[in-house]
Amino acid sequence: MTIPTVTLNDGNQIPQLGYGVFKVPPADTERAVAEALEVGYRHIDTAAIYGNEQGVGAAIAGSGIPRDELFVTTKLWNDRHDGDEPRAAIGESLDKLGLDAVDLYLVHWPTPAADNHVHAWEKLIELRDAGLTRSIGVSNFLVPHLERIVEATGVVPAVDQIELHPAYQQREVTDWAAANDVRIEAWGPLGQGKYDLFGVPAVAEAASAHGKSPAQVVLRWHLQHGFIVFPKSVRRERLEENLDVFDFALTDAEVAAIDAIDPGDGSGRVSAHPDEVN
Ligand code: NAD
Repeated sequence: MTIPTVTLNDGNQIPQLGYGVFKVPPADTERAVAEALEVGYRHIDTAAIYGNEQGVGAAIAGSGIPRDELFVTTKLWNDRHDGDEPRAAIGESLDKLGLDAVDLYLVHWPTPAADNHVHAWEKLIELRDAGLTRSIGVSNFLVPHLERIVEATGVVPAVDQIELHPAYQQREVTDWAAANDVRIEAWGPLGQGKYDLFGVPAVAEAASAHGKSPAQVVLRWHLQHGFIVFPKSVRRERLEENLDVFDFALTDAEVAAIDAIDPGDGSGRVSAHPDEVN
């Protein structure tokens, strides 16, 4: 099976569907990632704060898959934005992952109270120029944060990784990203299982029309919007199910019906707001 790739604004390619390991316990990570690689995933999304980079690295090392066939993302945690901390942090991540460089390194949150995301972004530019990461991006950045780093450095992030699912579509950010050649990575693509997304008629009807599961319909909706996704599961059957989304397409009407799920007032958000994480 071939997973489509998306071209980033720096020319690098990223598999549009990957495997995210937030909340995969460190002790289970090697097995879970090994299984994901076995069933066909080639893009892994982790972060220093997840505490499981070592397990990701062990699974990669054990897989025998050539490095250039894998796409690995990790992220700079909030307490390491200052001074030369980003360089120390990526060094520690690379050691744990057993890699010379990652494919994508992200500023995990803008931490507006600390007012240091411009500095962190300047450091990521240096890390990219030093060859420690092929691409650089941000996560949980809202439009004012994005505008600020671009204005300060002239360097546009390759991606913004934000909470995004049918009930919370963040159109202000996605519109800015589309206008500025930034790809959107949708975290919590299934709403983190925190609300009954699957009970929503637009999702259930499309699922029965295509003989697919509600999760597959929601992932397909992301893909048809051009979003990059990496749903998390530790169950092999769900890893397979979440990858099996390339043999059908939602109609324009089905996409529009799922677009209409977002109440538009922010109430669909299931996790932290970027202004609250410092
Ligand atoms: P998700 O939307 O992928 O939800 C995961 C949950 O959905 C699972 O625990 C499971 O309960 C359920 N699920 C998965 N597959 C299913 C299926 N086929 N059918 C039914 N239920 C299913 O949420 P997530 O894990 O938070 O997000 C995905 C990835 O995004 C993370 O693993 C992580 O890599 C990344 N992420 C990034 C940030 C950030 O701040 N940058 C925050 C959260 C997550």
